[in-house]
Amino acid sequence: QAKAAGRNTMRFYDPLMQAAVHRRATLELDMRIGLEQGQFELFYQPQKDRDRIIGCEALLRWHHPQGGFISPAAFIPLAEETGLILPLGEWVLRAACTQLACWAQDPEFAHLSIAVNVSPRQFHEPGFVDHVLAALAGAGADASRLELELTEGLLLQDIEDTIRKMVQLKGYGVGFSLDDFGTGYSSLAYLKRLPLDQLKIDQSFVRDVLTDPNDAAIARTIVGLGISLGLRVIAEGVETEAQRAFLERHHCHAWQGYLLSRPLPVAEFEALVRAG
Ligand code: C2E
Ligand code: MG
Ligand code: MG
Ligand code: MG
Repeated sequence: QAKAAGRNTMRFYDPLMQAAVHRRATLELDMRIGLEQGQFELFYQPQKDRDRIIGCEALLRWHHPQGGFISPAAFIPLAEETGLILPLGEWVLRAACTQLACWAQDPEFAHLSIAVNVSPRQFHEPGFVDHVLAALAGAGADASRLELELTEGLLLQDIEDTIRKMVQLKGYGVGFSLDDFGTGYSSLAYLKRLPLDQLKIDQSFVRDVLTDPNDAAIARTIVGLGISLGLRVIAEGVETEAQRAFLERHHCHAWQGYLLSRPLPVAEFEALVRAG
């Protein structure tokens, strides 16, 4: 016990450790300020079925005044840890719903849906359903154009809470996708119980789908599973025409990836939709 405490004390004075603690504290404070000062923006990555762009995934971007652009992979985990994901997640929901309401006014964009990523802490907070409904109502957005992307880990954290919230939101028309499917631990028994609409094949399986027979088998199996369960299947991270063709040949319903476009600022996304 004493030894362990001693080690911890030593670690606390480790200058490298101190620097890391300092960086975290700085990042957290910067995030709070950034949220107040409007430094966050949603980019939109188009999602396409066989013929046309059917919607997009909203991906968060942070324009840090000193650090330039910071990737969500760098700040979402810390936002989760500190709880800042709650105000940040609410901001994302409001921004996406405002965009949906705006597109609903324009026949060129009225058919588009927006998929929003939801983190575990955000989803399992008691007020989550109310926050989603408030964002929709506040913007005057159609719930059936909003899709929430959940991850396998999130679903399993508290399966009863998960099902209750999903059923409630589905009652209003909100859709659900299972993101990064195949990388987590979801059992088929759970999959059957969850009111999902869509599976997303993780990009790690798409990357080598043409060269790695295991990845090809996994991708085909996910599509087959989705179809059997009455779910749509979308592939993420599609970068080549050959990958797209493989997925289409195996009846994957939709796809997104650099082959069509990177995530774009809203004006550029709209230009892409207009261009067909
Ligand atoms: P994700 O939801 O799995 O999003 C897919 C990631 O793959 C995005 O990275 C996207 O830009 C990238 N991507 C898209 N197409 C391609 C491709 O063809 N090739 C490759 N190599 N990558 C591609 P991004 O934008 O950096 O986001 C990373 C992760 O951060 C997301 O993974 C998601 O888990 C999280 N995230 C992003 N925005 C939000 C948000 O608003 N809320 C929450 N809670 N998480 C978010
Ligand atoms: Mg996602
Ligand atoms: Mg994903
Ligand atoms: Mg992924």
